[in-house]
Amino acid sequence: MLSISLPRLTSRINGLARFGALAGGGVTRPCWSPPHEEARAWLLGEMRAAGLATWVDTAGNIFGATGIRAFGRDTPVVLTGSHIDTVPEGGILDGALGVLAGLECLQAISEASAPHARPLVVAAWSDEEGRYGSLFGSRAFCGLLDGARIDEMMAVDGVRLVDAMARADFDARRAPEARAPAGTVTAYVELHIEQGARLEEAGVPIGVVETIVGVRRSRVLFVGQADHAGTTPMDRRRDAFLAAADYALRVREHVVTRGSGVSVTNFGVVRVHPGVSNIVPGNAELVHEMRDPDPAVLERLAKECAALAHEVAGVHRVGAEIRLMSATTPAPCSPRVQSAIESVCATLGLPCRRLYSAAGHDAQNLARITDAGMIFIPSQGGRSHRVDEMSDWEAIERGSNALLHTLLALAA
Ligand SMILES: [Zn+2]
Repeated sequence: MLSISLPRLTSRINGLARFGALAGGGVTRPCWSPPHEEARAWLLGEMRAAGLATWVDTAGNIFGATGIRAFGRDTPVVLTGSHIDTVPEGGILDGALGVLAGLECLQAISEASAPHARPLVVAAWSDEEGRYGSLFGSRAFCGLLDGARIDEMMAVDGVRLVDAMARADFDARRAPEARAPAGTVTAYVELHIEQGARLEEAGVPIGVVETIVGVRRSRVLFVGQADHAGTTPMDRRRDAFLAAADYALRVREHVVTRGSGVSVTNFGVVRVHPGVSNIVPGNAELVHEMRDPDPAVLERLAKECAALAHEVAGVHRVGAEIRLMSATTPAPCSPRVQSAIESVCATLGLPCRRLYSAAGHDAQNLARITDAGMIFIPSQGGRSHRVDEMSDWEAIERGSNALLHTLLALAA
């Protein structure tokens, strides 16, 4: 039976890990940054050396293909892929695995001349991690990018998308042109590390994703009054940070007790203004994120948290402003792709189980235009979005072979 070459895949995973490598392990490779653009050039070289036709679209998505040289309406393709950008201080597998395993599958299939009726394409979607806008490249490809908002898209540190893309020789305003013509993709399957501990704890090598969680991010701003931190009596302060802290604690309690049981929430960005020790904070800004696989739960929690923000603001005599930054709807994966993965696992003798993805992925955008699915492999200790993120090489090999045969089945 046809299988991937683990030595070749291993060498490419280690090869890509050099771009943006950190001294203590892991990588920082945000989209459009110099290490990301070096990685792009390297990846295009690897794809060409593997005999694939390559192209890059106006959203910066990278494609490698067998059987076609560009997308067309008449030849629907089977697509795989993931992303090569990373979070700051991230690991070497998040995204990289899906792209490089996809490339390896296409190479193994071409070299063996394995029969497939549909062309096969591997994609590296730009800015999946959302430094400037989450799942940017796949959103553009699936026609979900709002062109009118491109000028205002920026990173948390204020760097604008248009400038970041210009430095990488792309025109951000042309990104919506990356939209694929209807009927371009007949199926999409993405291999990814689980980024959680469910598969490892259950001792199951393959996860078949049923649904991908929705993620809501809001900027919550509390506006109080800056005052002298020594001379203002405690009972007269309108401390914006105190309100923000109270809100964070109460939201956590609320989501844990009133969520679906798997709802999660995070405050990953906290800013206090003016931000010095001898001034009572006049402003406090939080970026509040919530995730759940059920859209109705997410919607309800968002309303309840907004009410909570105003209640907390009242208690602390400050103002509260909430601005939605992004909201993705939970995406069900295609039953056809799920059964294709399960049949392949049965043939390969790999136990598998269905599970939902607690992380957002490009597959959720592809699910809007085609039959999409995902294959998960266990993450060591469930660790991800940190420098010691890793999976066993045997797990990588098993997952890549599952991807290989799922692609062949979908392209038959
Ligand atoms: Zn990822």
